[in-house]
Amino acid sequence: MLSTVNAKPVDAGPTVCIAELGQRVLGGGEITPAEGQCLFNLESREEIFDLLAWANRIREHFKGNKIHLCSIVNVKAGGCSENCRFCAQSASYETNSPRHGLVKREEVLAAAREAKSNGVTALGLVAAWRGLEEGPVLEQICRELEELKQSGQARPDASLGMIKNQKVADRLRQSGLECYNHNLETSRRFFPQVCTTHTYEERVQTIKHLKQAGIKICSGGILGMGETREDRCELAFALKALGVHIVPMNFLNPIAGTPFAQREPLPPLEILKSIACFRFILPKQEITVAGGRTVNLRDLQSLIFMAGASGLMVGNYLTTLNQPVEKDLQMIKDLGLDPNWDRHGFSDQDDNGAN
Ligand code: SF4
Repeated sequence: MLSTVNAKPVDAGPTVCIAELGQRVLGGGEITPAEGQCLFNLESREEIFDLLAWANRIREHFKGNKIHLCSIVNVKAGGCSENCRFCAQSASYETNSPRHGLVKREEVLAAAREAKSNGVTALGLVAAWRGLEEGPVLEQICRELEELKQSGQARPDASLGMIKNQKVADRLRQSGLECYNHNLETSRRFFPQVCTTHTYEERVQTIKHLKQAGIKICSGGILGMGETREDRCELAFALKALGVHIVPMNFLNPIAGTPFAQREPLPPLEILKSIACFRFILPKQEITVAGGRTVNLRDLQSLIFMAGASGLMVGNYLTTLNQPVEKDLQMIKDLGLDPNWDRHGFSDQDDNGAN
C-alpha cells in the first residue's frame, strides 16, 4: 500500500497529495508549477520523508540503479572578470583560490586517465573566464577536446562560459564536444542578486546556441545563496523548459572573501527535499549532485540517491576539496547502486529527457 501523505503548503494554496503526484510522474505525466511549489513548501519531517520515498521510486523507474559519475579539470583558474558573488575565482574578491593560465595538454590527459581509473565517464574542461570567442584560445581548447575524445579515456565535456556566436558553438561540436555545462545558477528574478556583470538572458542565449549546435546541455544551479523556495521552483521549471539533459545541483559552500561568505547554510533536510522536488519536475534528467555536498550534508550524503539524484560529481571541486573518490564509490556500492556506468555517449532516454 503506497503512502498518501497530504502536503499542506505553509502559505495559502491547494493541498496536494504527494502519492497522487508521484503516481502521475511515474505514469509519464507532469506536475504543474503550482504543484511543484507545494512540494518545495513542505515543512514536516513526515511529509519530506514521504516525498523522498516517491522521488526514489521515480529515480528507479526512469534511471534504474545506474549512477552517472563525472569529474572536472580546471584548465584556467582564477582572475575571472565576472562578479558572481558565490565564486572564489572572481577577480573582484580576495580569496585564497589558485590562479593559473591555460594548463598544458598533458595535465588534461592525466586528469582523464585518473577519471577513467575511477570509473568516471565524463571529464569536464572548466575555465574561469567570461566566455569563449573565435580565435586562438578556442582553437587550443578544441585541440584538447579532440585529443581527449581520441584518447577514449572519458567523454569530453566543457564549461567555458558564455557563447554569443553560433560559430563558436558549432566549432566546439565539430571538435567532438558532446556536452557543455552552463548553469542558470538561480531564478531569473534572483539572478541580479548573484551577478551583475552579465545577465540571466545571456546565459539562456548561450544554452540556445549550444543546443542549436547539437551539443547536450548540462545546466543547473546553486541553492542556498539566499534565494526563496519560489526561486528554486522557478529554476527547476526553467531548466525543464530549456530541455536540458543533465542538471547539476550545487549547494553553497560559503567561501571566505566572497560576498556570500556569511550566508547561512541550508539545513540538510531542505537540501534533500529540494533534490526530490527537482526529481518530480525533471523525472528523466540526470540529476547530479555537485559542489557543496560534503560540507552541507555531512553524514546524510548517501540520502541524495533516496531523494532522486542519479549522478555524482566525484574528485575535487574547482576551489574546494571533496571526499576521496574511493569513499564515494563505496557509498554507491553499499546502497546497491551501480557506479560503473561505462558509456561515453548519451542514451535515447537522455534525448527523451530533453523534451
Ligand atoms: S562563476 Fe564562472 S563566470 Fe562567475 S566569477 Fe566564477 S569563474 Fe567567473
